[in-house]
Amino acid sequence: MKLLEINDLYADYVSNKGITGKKQTIHAINGLSLYVKKGEILSIAGESGCGKSSLAKLIMKLIEPKSGEIKFEDNNILNLKNKNDIKNFYKKIQMIFQNPYSSLNPKSTVGSILREPLEINTNYNSKEIDKIIEEKLAQVGLDKSVLKLYPHEFSGGQRQRIAIARALVSEPELIIADEPVSALDVSIQAQIINLIKSLKDNNNLTFLFISHDLSVIRYLSDRIAIMYLGEIVETGQTEEIFENPKHPYTKALLASVPKMSASESAETVSLCGELPSAEKLPKGCKFHTRCPYSMEICKKSSPFVCDFSSTHSCKCFLYDENCLNSLSQK
Ligand code: SF4
Repeated sequence: MKLLEINDLYADYVSNKGITGKKQTIHAINGLSLYVKKGEILSIAGESGCGKSSLAKLIMKLIEPKSGEIKFEDNNILNLKNKNDIKNFYKKIQMIFQNPYSSLNPKSTVGSILREPLEINTNYNSKEIDKIIEEKLAQVGLDKSVLKLYPHEFSGGQRQRIAIARALVSEPELIIADEPVSALDVSIQAQIINLIKSLKDNNNLTFLFISHDLSVIRYLSDRIAIMYLGEIVETGQTEEIFENPKHPYTKALLASVPKMSASESAETVSLCGELPSAEKLPKGCKFHTRCPYSMEICKKSSPFVCDFSSTHSCKCFLYDENCLNSLSQK
């Protein structure tokens, strides 16, 4: 069952350019489509600046898209205007942020931080709220002794556990985790990753996991979507992506991951140049300026989606039979 479905989403935002303060339009999301099934972890992978965090903000209704559709439990959330409907939506979808130092209010105790969403969004009485908070703290490996303490009294890993408990108290259907371990020490990262995995396995939770770290993504994910300049260029089951990557960009990303064995990912693709500015997107296939296989058609037209299995697909002319036939006839 599809819990979240995004179709042909476009979003721009305006920012000030450097010290001149000149306005520039950033094309953050450009025709993005994907879905997340209930009970799975779908990871979004891509370089910094590819639009991953903008996507999270769009799903959380923190920014408005230019066009497209975001359906959660079959309802287009872009049409939610009624206060109660929006409140209900925020109960079902929660977010864990990258930096646990800035995502928790330093002036509030852990108890207040965890009570707040329940007091705002539910009709539970105080005793019921206490019970839920205790239960969620236990799920993240903490106990009620933390409730009177302030965020600064905890380590980064403990703060991220508190942030996860805050996401859990509303009993959400979907949790968006935006680079949740990248600000943590390496030794702590594994603990938080294992916590997310056990929450998914034991509580049938659904995660949209955003990361640039492909090793973490491989360990954690059921499926992966590879993102480049605001669109998904390849999706597949985790092993389909790692064992049989198709898109040149996916191959280049995987080439940067340390290999587990010599047999893995035999073909290596190197990226040419840097990620183009999202202010002025390349025409045709957006990857053509960096792709070692780029052809004339890639500079003019956008590739369609090619399916390799019911779960594995990519957008690239190299797999488009019509394109290859026409090239071979020239
Ligand atoms: Fe490279 Fe062309 Fe495929 Fe784009 S469509 S990834 S430029 S070969």
